[in-house]
Amino acid sequence: MREKEILFWDTKAERISAEDLRSLQVQSLRKQVENALKTPFYRERLRAAGITGSGHIKTLDDIRRIPFTAKQDLRDAYPFGLLAVPRDELVRVHASSGTTGIPTIIYHTQQDLDMATDTMARSIMCCGGHRGDTLQNMMTYGLFTGGLGFHYGAERIGITVIPTSSGNTLRQLRFMKDLGTTMVHATPSYLLHLHAAIEHEGYRREELALRMAVTGAEPHSEELRCKIQDKLGIGVYNNYGMSELNGPGVAIECVYRQGMHVWEDRYIMEIINPDTLEPVPDGETGELVMTILCRDAMPLLRYRTRDLTRIIPEPCSCGRTHRRVARFTGRTDDMLIINGVNVFPSQIEEVLLRMPGVGANYLILVEKQGVLDKLTVRTEVTPEMFADDARVLNALREQLRSELAALITITPGIELKEPGSIPLAEGKAKRVEDLRPKD
Ligand code: ADP
Ligand code: ZN
Repeated sequence: MREKEILFWDTKAERISAEDLRSLQVQSLRKQVENALKTPFYRERLRAAGITGSGHIKTLDDIRRIPFTAKQDLRDAYPFGLLAVPRDELVRVHASSGTTGIPTIIYHTQQDLDMATDTMARSIMCCGGHRGDTLQNMMTYGLFTGGLGFHYGAERIGITVIPTSSGNTLRQLRFMKDLGTTMVHATPSYLLHLHAAIEHEGYRREELALRMAVTGAEPHSEELRCKIQDKLGIGVYNNYGMSELNGPGVAIECVYRQGMHVWEDRYIMEIINPDTLEPVPDGETGELVMTILCRDAMPLLRYRTRDLTRIIPEPCSCGRTHRRVARFTGRTDDMLIINGVNVFPSQIEEVLLRMPGVGANYLILVEKQGVLDKLTVRTEVTPEMFADDARVLNALREQLRSELAALITITPGIELKEPGSIPLAEGKAKRVEDLRPKD
């Protein structure tokens, strides 16, 4: 079966020995420290920590002498405080989506883009994409890296790329059918919407050559992946990245779909406890901290991603030596505190998606009611469910309420909505609306 075929873009790099990897990482880290010292931001930050040159980095453990860099630091250094090369060497600027505030600006030299493209090509082949595939890239093109970043990586392999960008679902479907699209890159929330449109427009599965999807850009549960796989009859591969780290393809699943390989020759990964800032033992969930080893224009040392995951230390059957991380459970700042109880949106999604009859989109609302917080889960149902009688809908409502209460210890209000009635985001899905007054 083609799907389980293990393809390599750069066999040597992907199967590097632990020893070679360590020495490469130390060497690259030293180079990055020297480079960082060229920027106004790090010159000050590193000198304050007593680091005036790469001589202070002798082993990998010395990374812990380097202070963390936070998203706010990037905002404070806006626009050029983190630039390590003359401005005329820059060939492209990207920016984060701004999910949690002012977007951060990332700049690249030609060499940086070449490295990002190479990493992306490696990632696409890792999950089974190859020359001969036709890719429809349904991520937004522009400042967001999910468009151009993925696009260049696919082209480098020799994949035929259709840069449709996001939205315009009917046109997406027409191209999928007429051009024989075998692979899509999209947010998981958009893929559910796409499936609903396929059914609504009456396309037959045999008319489409689609065999796989690469998803990313937003946290999503294993349940959501399974639902997309079942509905579309394709393999769905999780892909993690962020603009600060060059965009998509920082970590990706191989054909075994048991966690995402982090390309450790290009990034040094650490997982820390976000409160104590100490490393957590392998296998324990914490905040991912990354040092980028493959960028000249804008070095980033020990960047706190605020994304939560854990290391899967066991070797992978695909033969790649780069360690894997588990599906992200969300961001540290995604956590909702509702009447004193910690709730992650991903927990709610898990319950919703394993329930037959739940539709393509949902929204979590938090409001203040008197002194208490009120949680409401608003979800679309499937067309069949919506057409059914009130008793069936009531039963679904009750079941959702009790399953959610059992998991998150809060009993939410449940609103069941007509298919297509909850607005679909153009880019990343917006899952939470917190209407409580900010104090
Ligand atoms: P922003 O931080 O403004 O959303 P980006 O557009 O660079 O900026 O998006 C990066 C973020 O998207 C990551 O930090 C992470 O929170 C989220 N993300 C990307 N891919 C995944 C994924 N596969 N699973 C979970 N979250 C993801
Ligand atoms: Zn693997």
